[in-house]
Amino acid sequence: MQADYVIIGAGSAGCALANRLTEDPTIRVVLIEAGGRDWNPLIHIPVGYMKLLDHKQLTWGFKAEADPGTNGRAIAYPRGRVLGGSSSINGLIYIRSQPEDYDYWAQLGNRGWGWDDVLPFFKRAERWTGDAAGIHGTERNLTTSPMTEQPEACRAIIRAAQELGLEYQPDVNNLPHGAGASIGWCQQSRGGRRRASAAATYLRPVKRRPNLRVVTNALVHRVVFDGKRAVGVEFSRQPVVGRVDAAREVIVSAGAIGSPHLLQLSGIGGPEVLQKAGIAVRHPLPGVGRNFQDHYIARMSCYVRNLETLNERVRGLGFANEVVRYFVQGKGIMTFGASLCAASIKVLPESATPDVQCVFAPASYKPGLIRKLDDRPGITGGP
Ligand SMILES: Cc1cc2nc3c(=O)[nH]c(=O)nc-3n(C[C@H](O)[C@H](O)[C@H](O)COP(=O)(O)OP(=O)(O)OC[C@H]3O[C@@H](n4cnc5c(N)ncnc54)[C@H](O)[C@@H]3O)c2cc1C
Repeated sequence: MQADYVIIGAGSAGCALANRLTEDPTIRVVLIEAGGRDWNPLIHIPVGYMKLLDHKQLTWGFKAEADPGTNGRAIAYPRGRVLGGSSSINGLIYIRSQPEDYDYWAQLGNRGWGWDDVLPFFKRAERWTGDAAGIHGTERNLTTSPMTEQPEACRAIIRAAQELGLEYQPDVNNLPHGAGASIGWCQQSRGGRRRASAAATYLRPVKRRPNLRVVTNALVHRVVFDGKRAVGVEFSRQPVVGRVDAAREVIVSAGAIGSPHLLQLSGIGGPEVLQKAGIAVRHPLPGVGRNFQDHYIARMSCYVRNLETLNERVRGLGFANEVVRYFVQGKGIMTFGASLCAASIKVLPESATPDVQCVFAPASYKPGLIRKLDDRPGITGGP
């Protein structure tokens, strides 16, 4: 196979790149994805995400190493393995960072990453379906929406937060510079009833472009080099091993875990690590596969009284009602993602701005049981 650009990984980044690059009909793009097509309906029904986090076909099944900080448990570390990548299994929350976070990146020397620089790109990506666009874009690919419902349990959480001094923000994506602790309703990457995954957003509309070829169920083994220049990739697609040549570039967008792994398999990384794995060093680069950081959510649940929560709404007739509501009105719990409201708070006294995001959901899991909702009404929240 021949292409101008070979993109490894059809996740959030890979799908957007494939779309944009093939706008020019003279540019040939091959997009290679280890997972399969995104046919599973649980991907597209927002609340289905709960069933996807440890899905055998749609995730890589990673686990973090057991750690004393997690009481010796090896925590599941989901990553999507399907068209759309992690955007096909994620919690659908669409909240940009506060402006100061981007300005801080810019101050570190990353020109072009300040808030005023990135805001036009956020807008250019977005198709906001709520009221008062202002800070949102309304004309491009990524459909974003307000929650379809504001359940009383979450209203109570917001009221409680206000009593504690948090300011209510009507649009959590419109935090002014200098905003203090605040809380508001989550927004979602969702259009109507359906998840707006990167595949639905960027691939589906252009799938008939003759200059785009999407290869699924193909695991890339390594980037192929001519001297120091990446000229293609080698992949296996059972039962064959194939190769795609890239006339211009190989783009590694295999995710925060997949990309460094692939670089290492291709001989780019810390020499000690590579030698231990029996991989010839092509380019020594010790930073590859190191300094990984992610946000950990320490969710806490509690039972509530006199408030309706999802725990009851997903059972019996209540659930049947929700299914009807979803299909007839496109509303209700089936459109919910991981959280419904989110607070920005300052935890460290030395921080100039809020430094922690706390998210809340009107539901709780059974003690010790992941993804089994409790029998009694409960809520969950945590940083
Ligand atoms: C459970 C979960 C919940 C999340 N919730 C939210 C949320 O609510 N809001 C939010 O904004 N963000 C959320 N995120 C984060 C967000 O989804 C990711 O940051 C984003 O999708 C990452 O995009 P990416 O392109 O870097 O990687 P990915 O989307 O993960 O794409 C990488 C792709 O590369 C493929 N790949 C990897 N290795 C190879 C290989 N060797 N050969 C071929 N293909 C390969 C993978 O299968 C995958 O499809 C969540 C993430 C997860 C996992």
